[in-house]
Amino acid sequence: MSADIIDGKAFAANLRAKVAAMVPAFRAAAGRAPGLAVVLVGDDPASQVYVRSKHKATIEAGMESFEHRLPADASQEELLATVERLNADGSVDGILVQLPLPGHIDENLVIATIDPDKDVDGFHVTNAGRLAVGQPGYVPCTPLGCLMLLKDRLGSLSGLDAVVIGRSNIVGKPMAQLLLAESCTVTIAHSRTRDLPAVVRRADIVVAAVGRPEMVRGDWIKPGATVIDVGINRVPGAEPGKTKLVGDVDYAGASGVAGAITPVPGGVGPMTIAVLLRNTLVAAHRRAGLALADGAI
Ligand code: NAP
Repeated sequence: MSADIIDGKAFAANLRAKVAAMVPAFRAAAGRAPGLAVVLVGDDPASQVYVRSKHKATIEAGMESFEHRLPADASQEELLATVERLNADGSVDGILVQLPLPGHIDENLVIATIDPDKDVDGFHVTNAGRLAVGQPGYVPCTPLGCLMLLKDRLGSLSGLDAVVIGRSNIVGKPMAQLLLAESCTVTIAHSRTRDLPAVVRRADIVVAAVGRPEMVRGDWIKPGATVIDVGINRVPGAEPGKTKLVGDVDYAGASGVAGAITPVPGGVGPMTIAVLLRNTLVAAHRRAGLALADGAI
């Protein structure tokens, strides 16, 4: 048996096209484009690549992209003042501060300063709380993207056993909340979990968000399960000096047992930016008091 491949790249391209198709109606109704502001502090190469791709995707969707670059030695006060200016700017619907921030800046304080109604990354405690109690808010992009892939594959998730490996605030915890809201029976596993293979073997849905290359082995997977691999790990490649990307799941082993699996790259990765654009479009509608049809995106 060979698992079906869940094509996150194609799903994300389709979601981005749907968002782009809804922008002209927003523009006509609101008299402006939806706006996303991205703040980058310092010159971390990976962060620069992410910020560049977000800028490009925002423009391609027909939205306004505002980039704010601060030097690595910018003070915390300067960054907080930038966030506050963006909070007050009517043309900005979404604010994203690229993480990680330099060590002298308190990340939690920066996130707490973002207006929760512009927090399209969904990291503010207000949005974490809204997710926990089932109120409309903003959900972190990567787990929301995983949920979209799961619902596209499985339809209703009600009653399924789901195991989320990882309990970070940006992936594991919100993922577990989303699955609970879909009426899954949810187990959250982490570094202290006893007998992880046995826990994973119970799962109809496995979401791996660990950051350890190919840790989840093929023989941990229940036959027919749906496997979502969030991990992005760079490891040495076949040729000397070359590297390659692998997930947190042993893809070759798991795809012989699972019903469906996301590849790395091309699975969860492309969903993050697509969902960011979706969240920005939702924020723009809410802020402008415009309705967005239920389930439209
Ligand atoms: P993180 O904050 O480092 O959290 C990792 C989690 O894995 C922790 O909860 C940790 O448990 C758990 N863990 C570590 N070793 C374990 C083990 N041996 N057994 C079971 N659990 C273990 O990582 P993250 O930010 O959630 O990211 C996870 C992965 O997803 C990374 O590879 C990251 O690159 C990737 N990622 C991808 C995207 C995307 O596709 N766009 C976005 C975000 C993250 P403890 O809490 O007990 O320490």
